Amino acid sequence: MRVGVIGAGAAGLAAAHELGKKGHQAHVFERAPFLGGQASTFDVGGGRLERGYHHLFMSDTHMVDLIHELGLGDKLAWIESKVGFFHGDRIWRFTSPTDLLRFGPLPLWDRLRLGLVTLYLQKVKDGLKYEGSTAAEWLEKRVGRRAYQVVWEPMLRGKFGEHYREIGMTWLWGKIYLRVASRGKPWEREKLGYPMGSFGEVFDTLGARVARAPGCEVHLSANVRRVVVEDDRAAGLEVETAGEGPRVRDYDAVIATTPSYVFTRLVPPLPEEYSRKLTEVNYLAAVLMILVLDRPLTDIYWLNIADRSMPFVGVIEQTNFVDPSLYGGNHLVYLTNYPSRSNPLYQMSGEDLLEEFLPHLRRVNPGFDPSWILEYHHHRVDAAQPIIGVNYSSRIPDVRTPIKGLYLANTTQIYPEDRGTNYSVRLGKEVVEAVLKDFS
Ligand SMILES: Cc1cc2nc3c(=O)[nH]c(=O)nc-3n(C[C@H](O)[C@H](O)[C@H](O)COP(=O)(O)OP(=O)(O)OC[C@H]3O[C@@H](n4cnc5c(N)ncnc54)[C@H](O)[C@@H]3O)c2cc1C
Repeated sequence: MRVGVIGAGAAGLAAAHELGKKGHQAHVFERAPFLGGQASTFDVGGGRLERGYHHLFMSDTHMVDLIHELGLGDKLAWIESKVGFFHGDRIWRFTSPTDLLRFGPLPLWDRLRLGLVTLYLQKVKDGLKYEGSTAAEWLEKRVGRRAYQVVWEPMLRGKFGEHYREIGMTWLWGKIYLRVASRGKPWEREKLGYPMGSFGEVFDTLGARVARAPGCEVHLSANVRRVVVEDDRAAGLEVETAGEGPRVRDYDAVIATTPSYVFTRLVPPLPEEYSRKLTEVNYLAAVLMILVLDRPLTDIYWLNIADRSMPFVGVIEQTNFVDPSLYGGNHLVYLTNYPSRSNPLYQMSGEDLLEEFLPHLRRVNPGFDPSWILEYHHHRVDAAQPIIGVNYSSRIPDVRTPIKGLYLANTTQIYPEDRGTNYSVRLGKEVVEAVLKDFS
């Protein structure tokens, strides 16, 4: 069968790869001039860097298997992570469980309580039992008000901004539960995975593999304008490419991997119940300021900023994770935040954002001087993080849409896990299973 796939991120490419392997024709259309979507890369210092920081957890088995399948397994490194927590104008290490015991801002009892609750959540198998609770209310009750306010509230606010009180506890459980897998034993240090040629290399290799399969095609700078629907069935795609202008192509089925709010614009009005599931989930965007420095800023890879007077929520120093030699000896630091698209931080130019961020870097490292900056890069990701509230399992849009032959696979359907390349790859495979079952 011939399947049109909208989007060449992890989900779209994984779906097309699966179709190609099973002897079907998949045509992928990606509006950007590059593959990889949210996990795409750009060139810096002679190396390739993700627009937004990316790593893998050991539980990310779908991505790990894919990387091996593509012949890139020998480039996948597992590296001890260096995590920190910025509170009270200093960095606290949060790399090993004993670091929690040394966390001065909380009395010992609170530290123990925090540790015990985290340990407990790591052991819980059925996180869906928390569906009715928000993470904020559940945590505050269990770890106590002080520990919640010092540690958990800033973390939730960091990721979800003004929506932090809406987040379901099941989502948070998923995050904690799966993360344990990246520490073999509870007392061992966490290891994170990175494909040393970058995530961009993984998705370029995957794209090339798709394009080599008989009858399969991958088109870049190809914007899908609408899904053609005839007699309540998806019949094709209207695609606009730079060289060609708009053209309708016929397909037996269509898989869309766009964010839900993009999807609703590509299709005729959908029945109320399904449409509500698409419009009900809001997304936060991500803004990323990437500094190319002539020296390190900190010795931490992942620094959570628990101080809401700072305009960024994370300082992620890529070159404290992988070696600076990958980027011509430069030191690379992401400053990041997750605003809504209407937030001024999202709308600012790169220059203004840098000006907004810079004064705060001296708090992270008092020795910092702007002369360390060799260059900077500014990126925005629109639908970076769906906001997953309580009782979410009943609100997930099905991969089968109400239009026959039209399927949706995007990050709002990943639950209870947090969105990530691993789950988009899994979803890509699942949606193909649904297509093939329906058309068998
Ligand atoms: C800042 C940040 C950090 C992250 N960190 C990690 C991490 O450490 N590890 C991890 O595994 N994951 C991480 N993720 C998440 C991961 O990148 C995503 O979950 C995953 O890449 C999503 O893949 P996708 O295919 O579902 O969606 P996308 O990557 O969004 O792909 C959808 C594609 O559809 C295209 N498209 C949209 N509309 C059209 C149209 N009309 N016509 C044609 N094409 C269209 C888009 O251009 C896009 O390429 C991170 C994400 C962000 C934003």
